[in-house]
Amino acid sequence: MLQRFFAALRAHYGVTVFFLYLGAFGIAFVGTFTLPLIAIFMVLLSIFLLVPAVLLGDAIGALSRKTTRPYLRRGVCPRCREQQGPAWEPPVYRCAFCQAAFDPSGDPHEADESVTPTAPNLTANDAS
Ligand SMILES: [Zn+2]
Repeated sequence: MLQRFFAALRAHYGVTVFFLYLGAFGIAFVGTFTLPLIAIFMVLLSIFLLVPAVLLGDAIGALSRKTTRPYLRRGVCPRCREQQGPAWEPPVYRCAFCQAAFDPSGDPHEADESVTPTAPNLTANDAS
């Protein structure tokens, strides 16, 4: 329950902050013509709120990882809650049912980190 909440919060945090900033831009743009003091205040506020926004994102990520790791240890997929077979092991925990992949830290596994199969073949051909 808590793991699903933090995973969803983490997945949508960046887009939420982006649209909050976009809305604030709209208010500041209108404020430029009506009350310039509001626009100046919002520009300063946006700069000083950037660091807390990033720190909050990091905290959400840490909570998401912390709530995901117990599922990985128990051999249960954090996304679909299916019990996994013997193939469930590091370095990448890949679910046999929903194909979700997780790093041992609890992060969702990024597919682009893996080496493409064509790259080693090219280097092997150059060496021979
Ligand atoms: Zn799964």
